[in-house]
Amino acid sequence: MKYVNGKWVADDGTTMKYVNKRLPTEIPAGQYLVHSRVVPSTQLGRNGFRAWLQDNNKNIEPCSCNFGGVVNASLHAKHYRAP
Ligand SMILES: [Zn+2]
Repeated sequence: MKYVNGKWVADDGTTMKYVNKRLPTEIPAGQYLVHSRVVPSTQLGRNGFRAWLQDNNKNIEPCSCNFGGVVNASLHAKHYRAP
């Protein structure tokens, strides 16, 4: 994993940009909203609950949780979680 121009780049070329405090209102075209596979917390960054945008859907699976109820969670019924 390398940090380049504000994004993390995994060895397979996937770029990930972490989201802090609140979820974006819109997901940019070609990006996927993903969270870590832990019990969602009401606050991003707490108890290992992290969220990020990545540029492909490799190694992620659809998730139907309420994103812990974090800010803008209701906008993202469609999102993914890390395996
Ligand atoms: Zn979820």
